[in-house]
Amino acid sequence: MSQKQVNFLDEVRRRRNFAIISHPDAGKTTLTEKLLLYGGAIRLAGSVKSRRAQKHAVSDWMEIEKQRGISVTSSVLQFGYDGYCVNILDTPGHQDFSEDTYRTLMAADSAVMVIDCAKGVEAQTKKLFQVCKMRGIPIFTFVNKLDRAGKDPFELMEEIENVLGIRSYPMNWPIGTDGNFKGIYNRDKSQVELFHGGNHGQNVVKSTVGDASDEKFKGLLGTEMYEQLQEEIELLDTAGDEFDLEKIAKGELTPMFFGSAMTNFGVQPFLESFLKLTKPPTPRVSNAGEVDPESKNFTGFVFKIQANMNPAHRDRLAFIRICSGEFVKSMEVNHVRHNKKVKLSQPQQFLAQERAVVERAYPGDIIGIHDPGIFKIGDTLCEDDSKIQYEGIPVFSPEHFAKIYAKDSMKRKHFIKGITQLAEEGAIQVYKELNIGTEEIIVGVVGALQFEVLEYRLKNEYNVNILMQQLPFKHVRWIEMDGFDSDRFKGTTDTLIVNDEDDKPVILFQNEWSIQRVLDRNEGAVLKEISARSF
Ligand code: GDP
Repeated sequence: MSQKQVNFLDEVRRRRNFAIISHPDAGKTTLTEKLLLYGGAIRLAGSVKSRRAQKHAVSDWMEIEKQRGISVTSSVLQFGYDGYCVNILDTPGHQDFSEDTYRTLMAADSAVMVIDCAKGVEAQTKKLFQVCKMRGIPIFTFVNKLDRAGKDPFELMEEIENVLGIRSYPMNWPIGTDGNFKGIYNRDKSQVELFHGGNHGQNVVKSTVGDASDEKFKGLLGTEMYEQLQEEIELLDTAGDEFDLEKIAKGELTPMFFGSAMTNFGVQPFLESFLKLTKPPTPRVSNAGEVDPESKNFTGFVFKIQANMNPAHRDRLAFIRICSGEFVKSMEVNHVRHNKKVKLSQPQQFLAQERAVVERAYPGDIIGIHDPGIFKIGDTLCEDDSKIQYEGIPVFSPEHFAKIYAKDSMKRKHFIKGITQLAEEGAIQVYKELNIGTEEIIVGVVGALQFEVLEYRLKNEYNVNILMQQLPFKHVRWIEMDGFDSDRFKGTTDTLIVNDEDDKPVILFQNEWSIQRVLDRNEGAVLKEISARSF
């Protein structure tokens, strides 16, 4: 094997790529920050608030983020730790932008689910968990905020099983709860690790580590806490699940960790164990079978498009997940959908919040490529002429609908351009009413806040003011039926049949109850919640 080949394989094998998911406020941002701190990507963690300010400086392009103090878009962060090269796919915290999170999960090899120990499994966690489950990727659980009062750890394990339907395997166990969090017991090594220092989470914490049977811990913890720990360990060992790496890899068992992202207690043991338990990028399914990440042919797919990140440049970035081979700056690749060669110039990578031009990148990495308007979400790129295509990214059902049109009809061209670009980004879904001109467009979004973003961006990026009329629909179903004829199809008075962007018939409903009625009235009709079309 040549030295070049050895280097390439080393680069692939040290890659770890994951997304962090959580309900807002569980501590995703704080944990991300602390992982970066341990990775040496930022020397001083700084308060979450200052990191927020930093985050906004980066995503300055959208005032809404600043005004509302929420992160609308996800970014990618890379850092090194102990020889590993870690890619964290950051996802928007607000539930109204969960569609973006869904797509980001398509580019992730595993997920870390952050749970607030006092709140347990919350609504948004549940939704995002389902997407991870659908993909069959490993899911790790980080129970956060152990420095505060919370639910009993056994109760949390039960809750995860009851609400999410997945069994958990605690990799470590908290010592001292309810505001008295002292450390963890590492089950793999049978060691106790007590944390101290860290200057309220500003710095890396120090720890005292030793065998759990060491009597010194009785002194350090006090007899009561020490004995309680012994009992709990015994209970875990006798009544808990077996450790099973295969189940973990398939997302059927979640390794569970306890800690406090705020004080840094438990962050390092989590990171180290996580890196050992996860694998480098694994083969990915394409229409020509699985593609080995270690194969020489560079391949990747677009999972996210973002326009106008920098208003001064009016740029548009396509985020590409590299699946195999080596990426070299300015390489020429096949754009499979267009059947055309494209040059990947100005590639960018996101190193702890700073964009940098990247010379080389490897499977598991995410790069942002300047997009002159040729990419769509789901597009595959490959270096050789194999023309393979990766599985599509599903289109999720919108839950809010509105009719929109340009206030000034002279701005129509800009209006259409803006709508088309935002639809290509996946920020909105567009529907057309049957037998009506294109003056009005119906848009669907997954989260209501996306309407605000739409209005804002059309005004600021395309100079178009719009009028918007919210529609009472809540559900959309794609109609699949032999010989479908919109005139003969029997809806109900509160439904509307429209066409999607590919002129496929869809029906909008105000309530679930009508869905069944329409099914009853139209023999042979199938109503699909997720479009057969994917990006
Ligand atoms: P996100 O919405 O999931 O990204 O959550 P953030 O990281 O922004 O955290 C939400 C709030 O919880 C902030 O006020 C944090 O300071 C606080 N927080 C995060 N982690 C911890 C923790 O481990 N302990 C405590 N007590 N608070 C935390």
